Amino acid sequence: MPPSRTLMWFRVDLRVEDNTALAAAAVSSPGGVVGLYVISPEDWARFNAAPCKVEFVLRNLRELSRALAGLNIPLLIRTAPRPEHVARVVAEVAREHQCRSVHWNAEYEVWESRRDEQTRRALELDGVTAHAHHDQCILPPGLVKTQQGGWYTVFTPFKKAWLAMLKQTDGPRIAPTMRAQAPLGIASDPVPVAVPGFQSRVSPELWPAGEAEARRRLRVFCDARVRDYKTARDFPYLEGTSTLSPYLTSGVISPRVCLKAAIDALDGPIDSPKSGVATWISELVWREFYKNVTLAFPRVCMGRAFKPATDRIVWSDNEEHYAGWCEGRTGVPIVDAAMRCLAQTGWMHNRLRMIVAMFLAKDLFLDWRKGEAFFHKSLIDGDLAQNNGGWQWSAGTGTDSAPYFRIFNPYSQSEKFDPEGAFVRRWVPELRDVQGAAVHNPAELPALLRARLDYPEPIVDHALARERVLKAFQAIGAAAGVEAK
Ligand SMILES: Cc1cc2nc3c(=O)[nH]c(=O)nc-3n(C[C@H](O)[C@H](O)[C@H](O)COP(=O)(O)OP(=O)(O)OC[C@H]3O[C@@H](n4cnc5c(N)ncnc54)[C@H](O)[C@@H]3O)c2cc1C
Repeated sequence: MPPSRTLMWFRVDLRVEDNTALAAAAVSSPGGVVGLYVISPEDWARFNAAPCKVEFVLRNLRELSRALAGLNIPLLIRTAPRPEHVARVVAEVAREHQCRSVHWNAEYEVWESRRDEQTRRALELDGVTAHAHHDQCILPPGLVKTQQGGWYTVFTPFKKAWLAMLKQTDGPRIAPTMRAQAPLGIASDPVPVAVPGFQSRVSPELWPAGEAEARRRLRVFCDARVRDYKTARDFPYLEGTSTLSPYLTSGVISPRVCLKAAIDALDGPIDSPKSGVATWISELVWREFYKNVTLAFPRVCMGRAFKPATDRIVWSDNEEHYAGWCEGRTGVPIVDAAMRCLAQTGWMHNRLRMIVAMFLAKDLFLDWRKGEAFFHKSLIDGDLAQNNGGWQWSAGTGTDSAPYFRIFNPYSQSEKFDPEGAFVRRWVPELRDVQGAAVHNPAELPALLRARLDYPEPIVDHALARERVLKAFQAIGAAAGVEAK
């Protein structure tokens, strides 16, 4: 009998370097590794995947297939007509290629976990062993717990415990470099150029695919920008952040490799509040925190608020406001600039994500879930854990959330973080000729000048909206844990 083969099922880990499941599959497979990716368009539709993200995944799959070919690992592409067929598709491929075991990297969201359990059962019926590995995070979710064994629901103590655990585990541990296996004589499948229903309008040149590009971004950032991160990261018109989120979300680069590069660039203690590098590491820890929250509190994957009492809030149902927000025509320049940038690039700067999310939930008093869904179907880095975490933080319904009475004033945010109005003028051309600080709030211009602008009046009065949202949160009161401190 020929030595048994191993199947490596790729999902959100589209890389060869530091891929835990792939490395384990290679070590444990005398007969060689076969790669598999299952396209499941209904899953993408069900979870509102952005067309630009689907297109990015397909381009990265082509790069992955090329990289795997260099290791003599074929990449098979199969399509599951319906989400519930995924398990069967994986089991069929294992059978077809005489694979006795299947490896994958764990996903922590509710539906993905259920799908993996179904797949494990389908494989077991055929006598095939399934191996799930922790890979998405630097430290496996669930490893960092409170002294009482509970989950952290506040970021700062989580980060402290996380850093202590990192030291204890001598991390980050990076998988050894893969070596080529003997050819198996199995041809790779072509990767489709597009999947019907997901036509992207974002230029692929903005987000080149492949591990080499992700590593290049990391290198450039760590060489030139990470030390200034603490100050530069809040200004959307600067290239102050790494722009690695699409690559981290689709697993084109591992968070351990990112952390290692940051540690190599450290200019002080890893928890120094002053260091740019340490601040960037903190952001990687936020990513880990929200993955833990997803695993610990599955309700956040199912459209529920982390603070259940806040589900009693009766949000506004003003569809015109919602359309204005989605389309970048709210009459609030920084919000419109951010939303138009999202539509064209598939990405938005973190400061702007907070501003537009607060504006939707607090100023427009619309249900944060609507904003969350719109982000997910627009973002190239759409990730349930990070997106939900960011939205619930902004709306005041989540873990560690901004207290409900902290409400960003979008005009002063604009003045502070886009002081020259460069970002606003770039994305809202109607305001290109507005001089000085008026660009942040053209409604304050004299009526004659305002009339010459082809730009709407603000759809909401910030001061009145603030009163409305404060009253709503006060009405649900202490039960929600939202009392003013
Ligand atoms: C309302 C809202 C929605 C968001 N939705 C997403 C999302 O769908 N996908 C996503 O990856 N991030 C999301 N974020 C977090 C953050 O805005 C992005 O990760 C960041 O802007 C990506 O840019 P970057 O890669 O240049 O980040 P950098 O500043 O270079 O940070 C490095 C990495 O750390 C992680 N990170 C940074 N900031 C955060 C944060 N606040 N929370 C969690 N992780 C963070 C990301 O993986 C990021 O790539 C959201 C934030 C908010 C407020």
